Formats: sequence, C-alpha cells, structure tokens
Amino acid sequence: MKKPWHVNILTLFPDMFPGSLGQSLSGSALEKGAWSYDCINIRDFAEDTHKTVDAPPFGGGAGLVMRADIIEKALLSLPKAGRKIYMSPRGKPLTQSLVQELSQEESITILCGRYEGVDQRLLDAHEFEEISIGDYVLSGGEPAALILMDSCIRLLDGVMGNSSTPDEESFSNGLLEYPHYTKPAQWVDANGHEHIVPDVLRSGHHQKIADWRLDKSKALTQKRRPDLWDQYIKQNEEN
Ligand code: SAM
Repeated sequence: MKKPWHVNILTLFPDMFPGSLGQSLSGSALEKGAWSYDCINIRDFAEDTHKTVDAPPFGGGAGLVMRADIIEKALLSLPKAGRKIYMSPRGKPLTQSLVQELSQEESITILCGRYEGVDQRLLDAHEFEEISIGDYVLSGGEPAALILMDSCIRLLDGVMGNSSTPDEESFSNGLLEYPHYTKPAQWVDANGHEHIVPDVLRSGHHQKIADWRLDKSKALTQKRRPDLWDQYIKQNEEN
C-alpha cells in the first residue's frame, strides 16, 4: 500500500488540527490512511519555567518574535522533515501548480507563525520556503496551513474518486471554471423571476457543450482575473 502523504506541523496551537480537515472528504481520507499528520507543539521545547517562545524584536518596534533556537529544537525532533514551509504573508503565492507539486512530496513540514512572525535566522539556516495564501494578514499561520493541506489532500490518489475531475477545475488549464447548473431546468425564484438552464447544456451535443463551457471560462477569466487572462493569452500565443 502507498505511504500516506505526511505533514508535520510546528505550531503553538496543536488543538487547531485536524480542525476542518477531520470532516468530509479530507476526514475520510485521513481515516483511510491517504494522509497523516503530526503536530509538534513548539512550546514543549521552551526551557524556562514560563515556557517562553518569543522575545521583543532587535531594533525595537511593536510585538514579539518567535525565537529561532526554540523552533530549531522542535524542527530537529522530527525524524524526517521533508520540504520545509513557513506560512507567511510575504511568501510566494499558493497556486494550483504549487499545490500539485506539494501533494506529490512524501512529507512536508509546515511552520505556523504567530505574533510578528519568526526570527529570520531560523528560516535562512534551515532553508524554509515561504508561502502565502493571499494578500492579507492573518493572526497566525494555522488557518493558512489548513488551507494549504486541504488543497493538497483533495489531489491525493483516490481521495476524490470519480466525484470530481481536477483537470477541469479552475486554474488547471489557466482559466476559471465555467458555471454549473442542475435540476430543476426551469426555476422560479422567490421574487417570481424565471430562470432557465442554457439550452445547449440539455442538447446532448458533447462538442457544443464543451465549446460553450470553454467560451464561458474565457469570458469569466477575462472579466474577473485579467492577470490570469494575460498569462493564458501569452501561453496560447506561444503554443
Ligand atoms: N508581521 C507579519 C507581516 O507583516 O508580514 C505578520 C505576522 S502575522 C500577524 C502572524 C503569522 O500569521 C505569520 O507569521 C504567518 O505565519 C501567518 N500569516 C499571516 N498572514 C498570512 C498569509 N497571508 N499567508 C500565510 N500565512 C500568514
């Protein structure tokens, strides 16, 4: 049997895991052994009686910084760290292609920051890769780690079964996904407005449906994500 995709999480809040990942698709995948995780409480490696893990920043300024020496001890307690990731708003963006890459690693280690973040020397000394989930600031790395893990877990072998096709989802071909419709074909909303499913989707004509979906994907991407649209155009002009 294939080894589970393994995640080590270095955190001050181990109770935040598996959190939402214990439910639904990722929850059954965890039960079936498709993935596994270990939470390492960084505070267990503090040496003073108050279990201090942070200190004020050199150079002054607000807040506290997580100490390199203590996090390093937590890191070195791991039998195998694999690819080391620090969740960070100044990291490279988490994209679907990065998610695909990470889901193919045997094991990864995710460091969750708190306060003002982590002493830079730890990140440099152990070559942490910084990854951001978006241009906004969370109070801690744990929700970001859950998001990264969720996006990887659904790509693991057998996790989605036949219920979904990653190849057709948003970002897989550089475009946002087309809109979906289901029963009833004719629906009147609470304000009395009638909504009818586009005829082509009920035509049974596979090529016409595929063309309609591609057109919708292109139109949505152009309107909502000009950045992705520019990339799509460039790539398709090159090919
Ligand atoms: N002082 C930091 C800055 O301005 O870049 C923000 C620190 S934030 C309050 C605390 C922790 O939350 C960070 O160390 C990081 O682990 C996590 N975090 C916050 N925003 C994030 C984001 N957009 N993506 C990934 N992790 C994030």
